[in-house]
Amino acid sequence: MAQTPSSVVIVGGGLAAAKTAEALRDQGYEGPVTLVGAEQHLPYERPPLSKDYLAGKAEFDDAIVHPADWYEQNNVTLRLGTEVTAVHPSESAVELAGGERLEYGALVLATGSSPRRLPIPGAENALTLRYREDSDAIRATFGEGKRLVIVGAGWIGLEVAAAARDKGTQVTVLESAELPLLAVLGREMGKVFADLHREHGVDLHFGVSVAEIAADGVRLKDGTHFPADAVVLGVGAAPRLELAEEAGLATDNGVLVDAALRTSDPAIYAVGDIANHDHPVLGHRVRVEHWATALNQPAAAAAAILGEDGDGYRELPYFFSDQYDLGMEYVGTSPGDSHVVTRGDVPGREFVAFWLDGDDRILASMNVNVWDVVDEIKALIAEGRQVDVGKLADPDVGYADVGK
Ligand SMILES: Cc1cc2nc3c(=O)[nH]c(=O)nc-3n(C[C@H](O)[C@H](O)[C@H](O)COP(=O)(O)OP(=O)(O)OC[C@H]3O[C@@H](n4cnc5c(N)ncnc54)[C@H](O)[C@@H]3O)c2cc1C
Repeated sequence: MAQTPSSVVIVGGGLAAAKTAEALRDQGYEGPVTLVGAEQHLPYERPPLSKDYLAGKAEFDDAIVHPADWYEQNNVTLRLGTEVTAVHPSESAVELAGGERLEYGALVLATGSSPRRLPIPGAENALTLRYREDSDAIRATFGEGKRLVIVGAGWIGLEVAAAARDKGTQVTVLESAELPLLAVLGREMGKVFADLHREHGVDLHFGVSVAEIAADGVRLKDGTHFPADAVVLGVGAAPRLELAEEAGLATDNGVLVDAALRTSDPAIYAVGDIANHDHPVLGHRVRVEHWATALNQPAAAAAAILGEDGDGYRELPYFFSDQYDLGMEYVGTSPGDSHVVTRGDVPGREFVAFWLDGDDRILASMNVNVWDVVDEIKALIAEGRQVDVGKLADPDVGYADVGK
């Protein structure tokens, strides 16, 4: 029987950190648990920051993972507004800003991501979206007669566009690729999102190269100027790996973790956006910057901390997005340019799209305004069974019967 650690320190104040504390207590760990988070806020979920909270339709408190008294009742010490500046594995200790040290029996890193910035003049003038304060600042730029330019037609850029249009803002989106979300969804599905935003009055420009962000707008390399009252940069996020790298942990596009979320140091674990996970079902490494991973990985990490590795973390990558009246869920992982099969009404935006490999195995799917199908599709992806493309496209054939 493995020994349980004398204490657990969790670094990071987001969803993955809060869920790690919860999972440790749920699984019966009784030792000291300390959560150190740089933000002043209680750990909260970020998806509403680009959706209902941004649109002024939900309160911030709705996004809080646990209220303050949960931490008290569960004897979890919260050190908010506190940055961890170093991890010293040889001393089993972390260092806080100001020099204080906390010793750990096990350490969980959940430092998440930070927004990428473009290496162009004036990039620092643009707003980015990761924290509550960013969402507040972006919302303040919305309104009739205001002009917002969004650089990047990824998930966050498009969700900000939808929230801004909802408030009557004039919105222009500038994207270097030929379509939105091209790398993830490919051409056919990228077009669905381009059409959606055009129908809602967004001025979309693809294949453009931004040269400069100035106080009065955005200038392209070809000289075109897009006047703006505010500019939002939505060009992706980068995992926050400084602590792990300086501590000498193995990293490569994230902190390398085994199936049970353990890093190259057996006393240190990584969960959420920063974890590059050796996925036992997919059979390859995957780093997922999505809510469901931050929500679900901590239970597997807590089990491993308590000496119960089991099968490791087996959930398939999953995410969702809401834009105007389009709600979608995506499960699995696939390059956008894989073969796409659809079932349902694509122009009417009520359909499921599947991405297949060369042997007609489903790699990923996206259900758009069609609900309660994810579990069945997950099973198909996990089984890795070959499907009959005609049956897969036919809404009258049940998912259990789409096999070849
Ligand atoms: C605006 C927005 C909208 C999103 N919408 C969706 C969506 O619709 N669907 C979806 O699936 N996913 C969505 N995501 C992604 C999802 O929110 C992330 O995958 C999730 O937040 C990752 O959780 P995490 O706990 O790993 O990291 P984070 O949420 O990034 O939290 C990390 C925390 O660690 C703290 N921290 C970092 N370094 C230190 C340190 N050295 N010391 C102390 N604290 C530190 C940070 O301050 C932060 O509070 C969205 C993300 C954003 C930003």
